[in-house]
Amino acid sequence: MSRVWNFSAGPAALPQAVLERAQRELLDWNGCGASVMELSHRGKLFTGLATQAEADLRELLAIPADYAVLFLQGGATQHFAQIPMNLAGEGDSADYIVNGHWGEKAASEATSYVRVNVAASSKADHYLSLPARDHWQLDPGAAYVHYTSNETIHGVEYHDIPSVGEVPLVADMSSNILSEPLDISRFGLIYAGAQKNIGPSGLVVMIVRRDLLQRAARPMARIFRYAEHAANDSMLNTPNTWGWYLAGLTFQWLKQQGGLSAMAARNRTKAELLYRAIDESGGYYRNPIDLAARSRMNVPFTLHDNALDAAFLQESGAAGLLALKGHKALGGMRASLYNAVPPEAVEALVAFMRDFAARHG
Ligand code: PMP
Repeated sequence: MSRVWNFSAGPAALPQAVLERAQRELLDWNGCGASVMELSHRGKLFTGLATQAEADLRELLAIPADYAVLFLQGGATQHFAQIPMNLAGEGDSADYIVNGHWGEKAASEATSYVRVNVAASSKADHYLSLPARDHWQLDPGAAYVHYTSNETIHGVEYHDIPSVGEVPLVADMSSNILSEPLDISRFGLIYAGAQKNIGPSGLVVMIVRRDLLQRAARPMARIFRYAEHAANDSMLNTPNTWGWYLAGLTFQWLKQQGGLSAMAARNRTKAELLYRAIDESGGYYRNPIDLAARSRMNVPFTLHDNALDAAFLQESGAAGLLALKGHKALGGMRASLYNAVPPEAVEALVAFMRDFAARHG
C-alpha cells in the first residue's frame, strides 16, 4: 500500500488511524456480525454510536447545553437556503458578510427566503483581505448576521469571532471547524459540511442555539425544519449513518490527539512552515493575502511564472504530493492543511518546493 500526502480542499484527507479502524471494522462492526452501514439507524447499536459521537463533539467544542447538535444532509449548500427558511420570517432581512466565493453563494441562495443586506464585502479587493469589523454596515433589526469564517478558495480566515451585539451570528465553518477551540456561546448557529475536518461528504454538522429553532414560522415541509430534526435526534428520516460513524471516529481521534488546543498548535505550526517557505522564496512563490487574514487551512500560492505550473503539478504528483492544483477561479496552486494533514506532509511539500525552485530557477 502506498499513501500520498493529500492536500485536497475537500473531500479531503482523513486521519489514517480513522481509515484503518474503519477498514478493520468494515465487515463486522463491534462484534455484531454486520457492517455499520448495514444496521438500522433506529436500532440500539447505531443509536449508541450516534449518541457517543454527539457527546464527543460536545466535549471537544465544550458545547453548552442550550445548543442542539444536528447531523444533517444536503451539504453546506442546501443550508445556504435552509438557514434563512428557519431563522427569518416573511419580510425579514439578514446581514451577510461576503469575503469570498462561499459567502457570495450563501448570500445569493438566501435571496429566495430573506431580504439580503450585504453588510460588508471584500470583493472589490478580490477577496485578498477581510472587511474590517468597524466597516460592517450592520442592521440591528436583522434576523441574523451570516459570515464565512474561512474561505476555502481564497484562503482568508477570521482569527477572531466578530462581535455583532444581540443579533444571532451564523457561521459557515465548513473549512475550519474543529481546527482550534471555539467559544460556541458567541454564535447563534454554526454549520459545516463534513468533508474537510469531520469525515466524508454527505454529512453536515450543525450547532444551533435552541431558542432559535422556534423561529421557523413560514409554511415548510417537516424535512426542512431544524426544530423537527432536533426533536427527532437527527433521525427524522434515515441519516447518513456511514458519515456519522466516521465523524464519530474522527472525534475520538481528535480527543486522542489532545483535543482542539493540541490541534490548534499543530495547525499553526503547519501553516507557518508553509507561509515561511513562500515568503522566503524571494518571489519564486507568492501568496498575496493580507497577512492578518491568511488562512491556516487553505494556502493558495502562485509560481513566479505560470508557465511552470504544469511541471510543478506533474513533479509534485510524482513525488507523492496530491491535489495541489489551485481552484479554477484563481489558478495557481493551493495546499489545504486540515487536521488530518500531518506536519510531515507539510515538511515534504516545503522540501519539494525548495528543490523545484532550485531545479527550475
Ligand atoms: N462553504 C464552504 C466554506 C466550503 O468550502 C464549501 C465546499 N467546499 C461549501 C460551503 C459547499 O459545501 P457543499 O459542497 O458541501 O455544499
